Amino acid sequence: MTTLLNTKSLTNYINGEWISVNNTTSVINPATGEEIVQVSLSDKEHVDAAVRAAKEAQKRWAHVPAPQRAEVLYKVGNILKERKEELSQLLTMENGKVLEEARGEVQEAIDMAFYMAGEGRRLFGQTTPSELKDKFAMSVRVPVGVVGIITPWNFPIAIASWKSFPAIVAGNAVIWKPATETPIMAYELTKIFEEAGLPKGVLNLVYGSGSTVGKAMVHHPDIRVISFTGSNEVGRQVAGECGRQLKKVSLEMGGKNAVIVMDDADLDLAADGIIWSAFGTSGQRCTACSRVIVHEKVKAALEERLLKKMEELTIGNGLDESVKVGPIINRQGLEKIKKYIEIGKQEGAKLLAGGYELTDGQYKNGYYFAPTLFTDAKVDMRIAQEEIFGPVVSLIPVKSFEEAIEANNSVTYGLSSGIFTQDVNRVFKAQRDLDTGIVYVNAGTIGAEIHLPFGGTKGTGNGHRDSGVQALDVFTEWRAVYVDF
Ligand code: NAP
Repeated sequence: MTTLLNTKSLTNYINGEWISVNNTTSVINPATGEEIVQVSLSDKEHVDAAVRAAKEAQKRWAHVPAPQRAEVLYKVGNILKERKEELSQLLTMENGKVLEEARGEVQEAIDMAFYMAGEGRRLFGQTTPSELKDKFAMSVRVPVGVVGIITPWNFPIAIASWKSFPAIVAGNAVIWKPATETPIMAYELTKIFEEAGLPKGVLNLVYGSGSTVGKAMVHHPDIRVISFTGSNEVGRQVAGECGRQLKKVSLEMGGKNAVIVMDDADLDLAADGIIWSAFGTSGQRCTACSRVIVHEKVKAALEERLLKKMEELTIGNGLDESVKVGPIINRQGLEKIKKYIEIGKQEGAKLLAGGYELTDGQYKNGYYFAPTLFTDAKVDMRIAQEEIFGPVVSLIPVKSFEEAIEANNSVTYGLSSGIFTQDVNRVFKAQRDLDTGIVYVNAGTIGAEIHLPFGGTKGTGNGHRDSGVQALDVFTEWRAVYVDF
């Protein structure tokens, strides 16, 4: 157990009580293969208990004026700020991302706390003239009730904050199931809510597997919203059940994000953007760049720059400040990446760098994969269509701007895209025609800001957004109110 963590076993938090569960599993540091802590594996009955507590608490919480609800978030933001460094280190230990990125992630949670606290004084509705005399008409946002949030391991505190903060400020009660690989940030954030004085039952943490706890949440008739971030495969199952129940569901799923590099691009800038987007968090971001659609005239020059920069990437334990690329989350994730390397080779893409697991010396007990560059990939190859979720990027040469846009839009996902060009007409055409929820110009595919809507089109999502004021739409209903006077 790390000395940063004050417990040996992470337990559920239901109705303001920390409750242990007999069944537990190990949480492994992916950089070292060592156990950090044990975590509860709950059953359906724990979900039921959490929902009962949440239902009662929500009735009272909804009557607390929103600016007062927001006071809890200001306190949460301040505690997160005070504990930023310690939380970042814990995040690196459980998830593997390098410390610099962990700090960035904790900062996102801090920003989200203050931003959503501000919403406590807005939560704007509308007044509208009535058709009739002596009648007043308005629309107001009301909380939905008990909401379920299901979060992935790759952003264990940022994504939780994108979901729980708007849900709580809007007057809902939350049941939260974090990913089994990364329960520590969930423990810490819940402790912080407790310290900030959130009334019991408003936030309930239930640890356990997706197939038991996640499924029980999705099936529970009293959970009125599910906000899910994770894989497309699981998201579709969640959507299916929510559809059957007519339950509101927000889905944020995978990506197959591309950077387009045109023949007039600043190639050094483009190479920097690609390296950071492709290999940051070891490519395990939903917004990771895993395709580079490059104009054939500058392909060789870009390859040269990328290879040079890749040589400079230090791989290792993210707690070491000199390390730029940390481990893969677990053995399963690593094996999936290896499988795609073989697929890429069989499909005829040319492997320029990487493509192998690191197993010697300091890498022996962790899960490390070398940053990998394929070139001469074709738009319809599986390595250019499917989410690999690792440090693997494929260059796809094209002959024109139009072909580049078409290639970008050829995938079933639609999360993020970037274009490097100095032509203002191409910039405006690209922001219009790239079919993704986020478009970057002269930047890579990552770096979202929390006050803008985050989410994607097509197979990435179902039209809802995490973060930004738009996140409130997931956790509120509109009510029309007419007052005769
Ligand atoms: P995942 O396997 O789909 O798991 C996500 C969450 O769902 C986990 O908490 C998981 O629990 C739970 N779960 C699993 N099966 C379930 C079921 N049948 N019913 C309900 N919940 C279930 O995804 P992941 O591997 O953690 O995350 C990586 C994926 O997330 C990638 O595809 C990535 O692109 C995507 N992602 C998308 C965004 C976005 O905003 N678009 C952001 C980040 C990540 P367990 O931990 O117990 O399996």
